[in-house]
Amino acid sequence: ALRKGLDLIGGLETTICRGDTVIVKPNLIKPAHYKTGITTNSILIKAICKMTREEGAKRIIIADGSAVGYNTEKAFDETGLRDIAKDVKAELVNFKKSEWIPVPIPGGKVIHRIKLPRIFLEADVVINVPVMKTHDAFPATLGLKNIKGVIQEEDKKRFHKWGLSQAIVDLNKVAFPDITIIDGTVGMEGLGPTHGDPVNLGIIITSKDTVAADTVAATVMGIDPMEIEYVKLAKEQGLGCGDISKIEVVGEKLNSVIRPFKQVRLDFSKYRERGIFIHEKGACSGCRHTMEALISNLEREGNLDILKGYSIIFGQLVHIPDKLEGELVNIGVCTKKYKDKGYYIPGCPPHPEDITLFFQEKRKK
Ligand code: SF4
Repeated sequence: ALRKGLDLIGGLETTICRGDTVIVKPNLIKPAHYKTGITTNSILIKAICKMTREEGAKRIIIADGSAVGYNTEKAFDETGLRDIAKDVKAELVNFKKSEWIPVPIPGGKVIHRIKLPRIFLEADVVINVPVMKTHDAFPATLGLKNIKGVIQEEDKKRFHKWGLSQAIVDLNKVAFPDITIIDGTVGMEGLGPTHGDPVNLGIIITSKDTVAADTVAATVMGIDPMEIEYVKLAKEQGLGCGDISKIEVVGEKLNSVIRPFKQVRLDFSKYRERGIFIHEKGACSGCRHTMEALISNLEREGNLDILKGYSIIFGQLVHIPDKLEGELVNIGVCTKKYKDKGYYIPGCPPHPEDITLFFQEKRKK
């Protein structure tokens, strides 16, 4: 299937030259086996490395940096990539231990300069291999978002401050991969990117245009690609084709593989009876998904009560309620104007962990 998918976009030989250094970038967000849907299928990575070698690549590097707080080396072990790398004579690189080179971003809207790993910049070819998953800040995390794994931990956190979607698009202006292979062999629905349920879809999507790959993958997942803010912005800013009607889909018929992924959809008003007052108006998918993921995770862990006694507001059009119940917590940069009236958690969207941490700290006090 991989060979067919690559042949349909012209074959690897149109991208890789003899003697090239090739980086294969999976999604190793945390140490976990691919059958959970959390990480990229290691068998797929092995096949990509083998085919890359056949094309005459001199150095093959499997490289990623796990999410903040997770150990990339452990991820190499748990995914089986350490053994696979030995087998296919590839190098394993943990981006977190990189030598960092500052790179200007021409046309960057929220970032004008970013540090990237020297090894990433010096590679001749980058093959991006994300997993098809739902996400807590977007309807889905796909190819453009997977590139965030190459940056420093501090910048991963700063992306939320700068505006996550635009920051992802700015990063891709200087780190756009040569080929994206979206791994839909085992995807994830529900509470992605790490707490959802695996979906055995058994497909891969290949493209030299990551925006087009993401657009097709979103469609397969039953999501309007323009609902994914970073895909929409990437399309508007000319990074690739985000119009499904203009993308030539070859191989399987698109309609035959559409399989809507479950999204977390919460009715926030139902938490009133538990003393949690959530007010949303005009929130984009970033804050909505963040809040839905936060509440679902706290509910699953039995910790929802840390939100008790607060009025939590978020969204572009939200106001402080006339009758304020409990203490006010303003979530996201859209509520900054109310920061003097209560607590304020910045970010666009704020990171779910920052919100959890805030309420845990309040509970301790
Ligand atoms: S802070 Fe505002 S603009 Fe940013 S994700 Fe939240 S609602 Fe959207």
